[in-house]
Amino acid sequence: MAGYAATSTRPIPRLDSDNRAFWTGGAVGELRILHCADCQGYTHPPRPVCRHCLSERVAPKAVAGSGVVDTFTVNYQKWFPAMEVPFVIARIALDGVPGVFLTTNIIGCPVDAVDIGDRVRVVFEQHGDVYLPLFEKAD
Ligand SMILES: [Zn+2]
Repeated sequence: MAGYAATSTRPIPRLDSDNRAFWTGGAVGELRILHCADCQGYTHPPRPVCRHCLSERVAPKAVAGSGVVDTFTVNYQKWFPAMEVPFVIARIALDGVPGVFLTTNIIGCPVDAVDIGDRVRVVFEQHGDVYLPLFEKAD
């Protein structure tokens, strides 16, 4: 898994100048997505220019942190020895952030309790400087 350090039960991203705001926002309880000051669009994953208009006037913006399960799968494969299986890999459509989906894990419930359309909210799992945005069911 290039770009990841398998030091935990989840892959931990390496911080760089583009992604730091996203991965550290959980320190203050913020889910941050890059927002463009020119076209008001959102860009994810983080990168130096807006994916819509190529503007460089992008900056992290705290979003609601809630959303809906757009699609998901259950992973049974141990990608590295410390990984705990099974777990849910879900694509979350974020409230108020049109066109942006986060691929993440759903935690806090059995894997068979997750379904498309479920309301979810972000929870952060800290690993050093990195706060992984995971999601749990909201109801
Ligand atoms: Zn833009």
